[in-house]
Amino acid sequence: MTFKAIRVGKTDAGQNVQFVEMDARDLMDGDVTVRVTHSTVNYKDGLALSGKSAIPRKFPLVLGIDLAGVVESSVHDGFRPGDAVFVNGFGLGETHSGGYAQLARVKGDWLLKNPEGWSGADVMAVGTAGYTAALSVDAIEAAGATPAMGPAVVTGAAGGVGSVAIALLARAGWSVIASTGRAEEADYLKSLGASEIIERASLSGPAKLLGKERWAAGVDSVGSHTLANLLSQTRYGGAIAACGLAGGMDLPTSVAPFILRGVKLLGIDSVNCPLVPRRAAWARIARDLDRAKLAQMTTIAPFERLFEIGAEILAGKVRGRVVIEFG
Ligand code: NDP
Repeated sequence: MTFKAIRVGKTDAGQNVQFVEMDARDLMDGDVTVRVTHSTVNYKDGLALSGKSAIPRKFPLVLGIDLAGVVESSVHDGFRPGDAVFVNGFGLGETHSGGYAQLARVKGDWLLKNPEGWSGADVMAVGTAGYTAALSVDAIEAAGATPAMGPAVVTGAAGGVGSVAIALLARAGWSVIASTGRAEEADYLKSLGASEIIERASLSGPAKLLGKERWAAGVDSVGSHTLANLLSQTRYGGAIAACGLAGGMDLPTSVAPFILRGVKLLGIDSVNCPLVPRRAAWARIARDLDRAKLAQMTTIAPFERLFEIGAEILAGKVRGRVVIEFG
């Protein structure tokens, strides 16, 4: 039986990313075969779909860093046919074929079972972006920052990581400042739990060594000058989780916030994050993420629209999260 996929190949002329028909012989190694029902589009997926990135490191490869579905067959002790499962990262769409196919074979050690009562569409509405937001909030709390110390700032607020971070921080008792380049999304951001909206341009210029102390914590999906500004305006003893690069890979900062205010910079990686913090982040999501808010930040789209949505996310035009349905 054949199935549809989006696969990247490589020739001397460069990468080519296209819809293809595959069959079971094309699946990669693994001990669990999953009938994929849903996937999603993260910023990294947008880069990979463009055919101009260094995200895929093996060819040919099915793209998609997330997948959700139902186990078809398993020789892994932890999973049986019929289990509702999902994967975030672990090299999907980078070094192992990923979620943009109706069938996938993966390592059972990468799989998590859906939280009780959550569908494949629900877990993909969260996806890597939302789970990264949860890892960030966990890291901020582990670093000792609390809502009593002041507000939390979220950059790239109307994006996927940003939207989920706002909802989780607000739920954890933080007063949330949302930084966005889309003033028209102010009502949306407030409905997720933001109490103040700031213009992203106010954080995109070169940072002072130290600025006015404005927040005690932050989740940054932008990087570059924006992250430098977050650090230089963090209150004494506060913590900033750095998880993204939508504004750039560089970090033009100084040691001043660290050695004069004891500010902590927390690095967040979702791809190879071990299972213990991964499960903890998903436990926070299942416990604290209001499903009505999740639905509000999510758009459902068919598999056929993936290229279009990939281009939109790179242009900063996607609001919140997108779930891909395989139909
Ligand atoms: P989205 O595109 O959904 O969100 C990014 C947001 O950043 C945009 O919506 C926009 O928000 C803002 N933005 C876009 N371009 C710029 C720019 N040039 N300058 C400043 N702000 C900008 O992407 P995701 O939420 O999926 O991912 C966000 C970032 O986090 C990406 O860089 C991604 O690679 C990274 N990431 C990292 C992970 C990790 O493991 N560390 C895991 C998941 C994501 P607005 O319009 O509100 O300003």
